[in-house]
Amino acid sequence: MHQVTPTRTFMGGLDHNDDLLAALTKICQNENIKLGKVEAIGAVKKAALGYYNQDKKEYSYFTIDRHLEILNLTGNISIKDGKPFVHAHVTLADDQGNSFGGHLIPGTIIFACEAIVQAFDGPEFKREVEPVTGLPLWE
Ligand code: ZN
Repeated sequence: MHQVTPTRTFMGGLDHNDDLLAALTKICQNENIKLGKVEAIGAVKKAALGYYNQDKKEYSYFTIDRHLEILNLTGNISIKDGKPFVHAHVTLADDQGNSFGGHLIPGTIIFACEAIVQAFDGPEFKREVEPVTGLPLWE
């Protein structure tokens, strides 16, 4: 573990019809946030998520073509391929409160979203593929 120090915090609404992951990534790139965390609540028009198959060591992807609440989005910000990278997971709910969730990928479209992005000072976290899991984990 590494000690990090909160520095700047950004809070605001994201745009209707934007891609959720792209919108969060754009904030980090515009504000040059290389290390931090993100959280959000709101609603999406549809969702695209990933699930990591631990035996095959590969992601499978699925879409949920429904209007859903964002009950929770939690993620971190670090560097991948030289650029700020957001790794986020979401829990989403339908009109009966049934929940779905997974690893956020492009294709999740915002209906409305309120996000908080927290920048940290600290060591540079870079992602490299780690052989045991096959995942691009922190070095
Ligand atoms: Zn993930």
